Amino acid sequence: MTNRPLIPTNIKRKVLVEAGHRCAIPTCRHIDVDVHHIIPWETCKKHEYENLIALCPNCHRRAHKKNEIDRKSLRLYKANLRFTHDRFSQLEVDVLFELDKQPQANIMWAPFNQLLLKRLIDSGLIQYTVTPAGVVVGGMKSNPDYIQISQAGVEYLNSLGDVEL
Ligand SMILES: [Zn+2]
Repeated sequence: MTNRPLIPTNIKRKVLVEAGHRCAIPTCRHIDVDVHHIIPWETCKKHEYENLIALCPNCHRRAHKKNEIDRKSLRLYKANLRFTHDRFSQLEVDVLFELDKQPQANIMWAPFNQLLLKRLIDSGLIQYTVTPAGVVVGGMKSNPDYIQISQAGVEYLNSLGDVEL
């Protein structure tokens, strides 16, 4: 514990805001919280946002006891919190993971449903390609637009630690 620097205020705040200043375990949500290192401090020796999660003293103790709340579970809880914090819809989360499975493919998307992906598009996590209108039926173009995960999208998923999921 000696020589361990404090967690920088801005990182600590980001972790606490991500969890709404409550325990990150969804069924707990206790208001008294510590910041826990998912990969233990003794191993990583770093305070990085991606590796930190807000836990109440009780859940914190359970996370330190092997297998009571394991690392993979903590990563899943953190990923869910980040998606909620970033305000992506469940559909957008599903689309992003699906696109990540086939990063080279251009997937068709119905142009009149572009709005459903607005947050993903605005955040730059996917590329949305509008095709010129071909045949227009009832005011809607009949040819699809295309979506593809961007480099930022790949990096975003990697930063969630999904390699460990
Ligand atoms: Zn808790």
